[in-house]
Amino acid sequence: MAEVLVYVDHVDGAVRKPTLELLTLARRIGEPVAVALGSGAEATAATLAEHGAVKVLTADAPEFTDYLVVPKVDALQAAYDAVSPAAVLVPSSAEGKEIAARLAVRIESGIITDAIDLEAGDEGPVATQSVFAAAFTTKSRISKGTPVITVKPNSAPVEAAPAAGAVEALTVSFSAQATGTKVTARTPRESTGRPELTEAAIVVSGGRGVNGAENFAIIEALADSLGAAVGASRAAVDAGWYPHSNQVGQTGKSVSPQLYIASGISGAIQHRAGMQTSKTIVAINKDAEAPIFDLVDYGVVGDLFEVVPQLTDEVKSR
Ligand code: FAD
Repeated sequence: MAEVLVYVDHVDGAVRKPTLELLTLARRIGEPVAVALGSGAEATAATLAEHGAVKVLTADAPEFTDYLVVPKVDALQAAYDAVSPAAVLVPSSAEGKEIAARLAVRIESGIITDAIDLEAGDEGPVATQSVFAAAFTTKSRISKGTPVITVKPNSAPVEAAPAAGAVEALTVSFSAQATGTKVTARTPRESTGRPELTEAAIVVSGGRGVNGAENFAIIEALADSLGAAVGASRAAVDAGWYPHSNQVGQTGKSVSPQLYIASGISGAIQHRAGMQTSKTIVAINKDAEAPIFDLVDYGVVGDLFEVVPQLTDEVKSR
């Protein structure tokens, strides 16, 4: 069976969920070979094996943390040269997309970014994408070189599929460009204790209807009762009520959770672009004609200042 390279996103050996989702998709098109880099790379092996990795290629070097993405591209290319895979899958994070794009240029292959599904095809893997502000779903495959595909978080289930997970050290020789851009400082973002927006199973978002930064406390309370991430429309972000890092939409983040709750958000096309692929959509809006109601599974016509706290109390009481 053909091998499929899976780039591992991990924090000190703790594998992040989007990588486990990639393993589910990789198993549909071949045998997953994982590539884990940096501090804690070897510690990822057990989790990766539990989810179907037949082999885990690891490398650690100061270059992976001291410089921007090029050393990681060098390592992924070394894995590509060693394995000659049928496809390369990378999580669709900002860094993942840069790594994938750079690799695709180097190996002269086509690339598909932000896939939301992947299946085997007669002429190579077929990727599904949601395009033009989620107005269309396309299926495409790469016709040149080895497919390089980035996949959005929450696009596939995490499945247990025990495999060998044999650990092998990867030999990497860094290119001249690897040390071109040095990291001079890292500033950890203040932790809210909530899940990362793009990876969260539930997202509760607030828009202009929230009517002030201080009122986002009721959105946060509902989010916390559900273990959810908090999102915001651009109107709320532009008003300075919530950080841009939480903006959902065309010029913000793209989310695809199991449940998306939009409060005081009208449903402009640019907002839809970032949340339309959510599995279940709930909207709370006092205007029964708001366009958001065209795409919801459940809609509540009402004042969010009454509905959201009631919902929070109800969730907490269960
Ligand atoms: P509004 O459209 O003003 O809607 C507010 C809603 O709240 C209304 O439907 C109202 O009925 C309801 N409401 C008010 N009070 C209450 C209450 N008490 N209880 C219940 N409901 C209430 N937008 C994004 O969100 N993300 C993007 O990434 C983004 N990118 C953009 C890129 C470009 C190039 C452009 C041109 C626009 C972009 N926008 C984006 C902006 C987008 O067009 C809309 O302006 C924005 O999404 C509107 O935000 P909103 O729904 O919060 O506000």
